[in-house]
Amino acid sequence: MTLQSPMDRPISHVLLDIEGTTCPVSFVADTLFPYAARRLEQYLQEHAKEPIVRERLRELFACWRKEDNPTAQALLSAALSKQEALAEPQTNVVLPYLLWLIAEDRKVTPLKDLQGMVWEEGYRRGELVAPLFTDVPETLRRWHSQGLVLSVYSSGSVAAQQLLYAHSHAGDLRPLFSHWFDTRSGPKQEPDSYRRIADQLKVSADQILFISDLIAELKAAERAGLAVLFSDREGNPQRNPETFPMIHSFATLDPRHCHHRS
Ligand SMILES: [Mg+2]
Repeated sequence: MTLQSPMDRPISHVLLDIEGTTCPVSFVADTLFPYAARRLEQYLQEHAKEPIVRERLRELFACWRKEDNPTAQALLSAALSKQEALAEPQTNVVLPYLLWLIAEDRKVTPLKDLQGMVWEEGYRRGELVAPLFTDVPETLRRWHSQGLVLSVYSSGSVAAQQLLYAHSHAGDLRPLFSHWFDTRSGPKQEPDSYRRIADQLKVSADQILFISDLIAELKAAERAGLAVLFSDREGNPQRNPETFPMIHSFATLDPRHCHHRS
């Protein structure tokens, strides 16, 4: 971080990654995914009559029939031998495939949708609470009160981002954010995604500060003209900032003193 020249327009917008930046990476890996795996069977039984659940089961069954993996095919043969009429696949029929997908960490859309539904219920019940890094809530409030425009850019869906911030340990933080971006704006490793976001924010790229823990994302954002900071937090997979300026906390950070390295 160097001092601005008088030519620079000051940062007015902060664009934030979530995992590894505002929330520990371990929350997703060690809490959210195991919670969904644990709850899924019971959730499907409790909501078996709901049209949306039946639709997801039908979609899963269609995926299963298209599988060329031998294990998935063997599970399918076993399921088919137990039940003749599969026009309307039941939870107990699809479950072996679901558990296999989870064990293999396969990201099939109907499974992701079902996981999202389980998480939503878990947050609403208070069984899931997003453990943001301790400095994050008060800093976001400070930046917001200073007039900085805050947005989220995460590869998790906008629905998942909003659930997380609605149920943080510091309460519902959604009102602090004015925009939410996910991969519908494009992949986070591509400069065009950041150009699109700047367009949507109706601001010049150099007035946006992007903070993330992944070098590939910082490189893409910097190429699009954004100011960037590397987030180094406990538990992150990448701890080497390469040439990027690095922060370990938001507590003493004033985004208005950051700028694009051109
Ligand atoms: Mg991240």
